[in-house]
Amino acid sequence: MEGSNEGLERQRAKRKRVARMKKFIVTTVLAFMLITITVMGFLVYEVFSLQRQINALSKQIYTATDVADNVEMIDDSYLDGVYKVEDIDNEAQEGDIPKVYLTFDDGPSDNTDAILDILDDYNVKATFFVVGDGKEDYAEQYKRIVDEGHTIGMHSYSHAYKDIYSSEEAFITDYNKIHEMILDYTGVDSKLYRFPGGSSTNVGKVGKSVFINYLNEQGVQYYDWNVVSGDATSQAYTSEQLIDNVMTDVVKYKTSVVLLHDASDKGATVEALPGLIEALQAQGAMILPITDETTVIHHVNVVQ
Ligand code: ZN
Repeated sequence: MEGSNEGLERQRAKRKRVARMKKFIVTTVLAFMLITITVMGFLVYEVFSLQRQINALSKQIYTATDVADNVEMIDDSYLDGVYKVEDIDNEAQEGDIPKVYLTFDDGPSDNTDAILDILDDYNVKATFFVVGDGKEDYAEQYKRIVDEGHTIGMHSYSHAYKDIYSSEEAFITDYNKIHEMILDYTGVDSKLYRFPGGSSTNVGKVGKSVFINYLNEQGVQYYDWNVVSGDATSQAYTSEQLIDNVMTDVVKYKTSVVLLHDASDKGATVEALPGLIEALQAQGAMILPITDETTVIHHVNVVQ
């Protein structure tokens, strides 16, 4: 009897050991799974928040990269005679009806017709800042922009920063070319200009005030923008992101001039357009073409 008792004890002890071992393994596996899930959750959150930061940053560096790609910076004399314009009196107030001006730069292009079709579907008018060099095949599109009630403006003939901003003569020559071309194709004597890169582009030795003064002498108003869609950045935004980018900024202003692009490789802009118009209309915004009455949005202006 002694012997079998001892055997039973041993078996019981062994079972206990096995049970303890099982418990240990199960606990370890569970703990490991819990840690993995927590870490994964944290990483997913981090990825999304980084993506958001990247989006915000690439929006900001648009002008900087645009300039860097196109020119060598010589010095800062481009700032001679100009001052930076802040949007102080354009802050949105409670109860405002936001005015939104959709502006399309760099066209006409293979996408112009698609853009015009969408604007027509929603009965919305916009502004097109067109260029001229290499656009001879788009005579119809210049005309269509005007015929359908949109505003047409100049965005230089060549869009080549280095040439346009190299001297006053070069600027005037280029200005005359695009002015003539628009007159020729559409019959419109355009009084609107958008500087390639914006009025604060720091290019060449000639002060920006020289060009601004020239436009003033011609009775031409120039328009910059205060809202960017991000469709000119090196980052390929989805159409949802383009809409988000615009909607985030539009709420800040009474008057928003939105920078968009009409270029053959800007499919996402075309795709975003219906959703953008719907989002703006849902917010009660008025979508308008630029006219003489539009609040002027300048990045820089001449010192009086
Ligand atoms: Zn441009």
